[in-house]
Amino acid sequence: MKKILAIHTGGTISMSQGVNGGVLPNEKNPIDNNEVLGLTDIQLENDELLNLPSPQMTPATMLRVKRRIEQAIDNGIDGVVVTHGTDTLEETAYFLDLTLPNTIPVVVTGAMRSSNEIGADGVFNFKSAIQVAASDSARNKGVLVVFNSGIYAARYVTKTHTTSIDTFKDPVYGTLGTVDHGQVSFAQQLLGSAYSQIDHVVDHVYLLKASAGMDDLLLNAVNRPETRGVVIEAMGAGNLPASVLTSIKSLLKAKIPLILVSRCLSGAAQPIYAYEGGGIELRSLGLTFCEQLNGQKARIKLIVGLSCGKTGTALHNYMANALS
Ligand code: ASP
Repeated sequence: MKKILAIHTGGTISMSQGVNGGVLPNEKNPIDNNEVLGLTDIQLENDELLNLPSPQMTPATMLRVKRRIEQAIDNGIDGVVVTHGTDTLEETAYFLDLTLPNTIPVVVTGAMRSSNEIGADGVFNFKSAIQVAASDSARNKGVLVVFNSGIYAARYVTKTHTTSIDTFKDPVYGTLGTVDHGQVSFAQQLLGSAYSQIDHVVDHVYLLKASAGMDDLLLNAVNRPETRGVVIEAMGAGNLPASVLTSIKSLLKAKIPLILVSRCLSGAAQPIYAYEGGGIELRSLGLTFCEQLNGQKARIKLIVGLSCGKTGTALHNYMANALS
């Protein structure tokens, strides 16, 4: 019988709607109840590690989850499920993908409707995630996100809708597979992996978004001695307004790594345009194009890269390589 550990961290999946309609955390996690799952062929252990709404997750709490998983791996667990709030689920999933050895299935899930709302999806997603974590076919696929019957790569999945139960999507590659009435089927295999060992996480890594007519106030605000790196969600294929070039040059002069991603939902940031502020100029100035990641994931990767001591060319290569 497979042994699966469920690490609970909070989020809507662990919450209930109160009498006034507001959704709040519970003292007792409503899905920490093996009987409702009806999984007689899996030995499930629950660990209430955290009980946080996911906007309160930080790289430091993600590191706690990673350490708990490593401990479980050392103790011979066959697979791990992490339940999590959906707001930052993709960041924790990707953090775990970058920092855990790819030895056992690790599956992250959550819910869009709290436990006592009509059509609550928590138990369904939790059960599906456990079934994937217990499946031999889920091995060597990196950290997975299971939601509304879809199985997604942590590297690319993103929350696309504020309230729909079908919110998690991979806008570039789609699902890796599905889980349907316990049947786990994969149709795609993720290439590459970027495993790094870290024992701490650095602070002062920022994410800024470009917008039409932006000035340089925010870019200047992050030009501080303690800043370790900045991810910029640029426009389109990877362009910025000419109005911010002076502040970009000052950040580079201060040796602050600048990582460029696109604010588009899918597609790669690339140096294509040769006008002032276009991607060709930005690359020649020294910005690193991080091709396929969205802004929040590029920030997580930058935090991991800096936390394991990468600088200069090593950091550039780590951030620029789309398949790791
Ligand atoms: N705000 C909630 C959270 O991320 C949303 C959710 O869990 O779906 O904790």
